Amino acid sequence: MLEFIRSDLAQFAAYNTQHTDNLHLDSCDRLDVNENPYDLPEELKQKLAWSWQREIESNRYPDGGYLTLKDAIAQYVNETANTAFTNTHISVGNGSDELIRSLLMSTCLNGEGSILVANPTFSMYGILAKTLGIPVISIDRSEQNFEIDLTQAQTAVTRACAKGSETNPIRVVFVVHPNSPTGNALTESEIQWLRSLPQNILVVVDEAYFEFSQTTLAGELSEHPNWIVLRTFSKAFRLAAHRVGYAIAHPELIEALEKMRLPFNLPSFSIAAARLALSERQPLLSVVTELLEQRSHVQAQLKQLPNLQIWQSDANFIYARSSKDLAELSDRLRQQGTIVRHTGGGLRITIGTPEENQRMFDRLAALLSS
Ligand SMILES: *Cc1c(COP(=O)(O)O)cnc(C)c1O
Repeated sequence: MLEFIRSDLAQFAAYNTQHTDNLHLDSCDRLDVNENPYDLPEELKQKLAWSWQREIESNRYPDGGYLTLKDAIAQYVNETANTAFTNTHISVGNGSDELIRSLLMSTCLNGEGSILVANPTFSMYGILAKTLGIPVISIDRSEQNFEIDLTQAQTAVTRACAKGSETNPIRVVFVVHPNSPTGNALTESEIQWLRSLPQNILVVVDEAYFEFSQTTLAGELSEHPNWIVLRTFSKAFRLAAHRVGYAIAHPELIEALEKMRLPFNLPSFSIAAARLALSERQPLLSVVTELLEQRSHVQAQLKQLPNLQIWQSDANFIYARSSKDLAELSDRLRQQGTIVRHTGGGLRITIGTPEENQRMFDRLAALLSS
């Protein structure tokens, strides 16, 4: 009807979590988007409310350079990766999703490039690329351990980057470390392959689950100006409501991202929340240990179930496949009050509180044996 709208947009759907039906979310166990199950502690909410009342002027735009937040992020990164980054190595986004889009716009627009992803992986890379008209080249992973098929990967790069190639050259390779939905961290051979990529290909290492995996490639960034690490406050740091993500990279790459960034992309309240979370990181991240213990517990339980295959995970979720119909299985679970994510040919189950995990297990066990 609206003829001014780009014709290719008809093939897209607006992003919604699956929470669109009339479920009473408060009474559901939401194990579908890998959030931390614990809200900020009451006293930190009070501190945040205090800064909202006393420090934030609602009538003023946020501090547009975000330097104080970037300083705090750089310090946190240095602590965890034995690096010496400063605010010039950091960019911030309205969630790391915004950074992914800025990266795509800085690299591949105007027919200058395509991206490479290995499925199953985080779907936003492909979705955002397509909304920008950027071609997506997809390769497979091993069905056994979900390692990227490196032969396919290398062939795709060589082919797309050859002179006279029909496709746009690959400008960006996206990897998640550890991968979502499958939970596996990059292996040494995958990392070796990333190291071998030429400087005219950007390597995006998405470390959304870093606090759970405690493994990072940030320490190698200074050797690779064509690498960028993405992180987020939405998962371990318990700030999904505030939408704060960040990127770590060579200052020239950060400059490019800053050019793409909308002015004042982070609200003042989100900046305050992220700064508070960093200054209180020890108590906040202490629940990571509990969640990892729960992960082992759930893993051991799920291993006992018939008709279910599960994998080792380095993140705060478990990936499972079954000979049963997964769409039906996740629907049934949802009807009973446990929401999990059916994606990439499997179920991705977030580790929640012990009670949520137990209910999930009991419901799944009953469904699988019926
Ligand atoms: C959750 C997630 C993100 C998104 O993070 P936001 O900062 O909330 O936008 C990015 N990448 C991966 C792999 C994720 O799982």
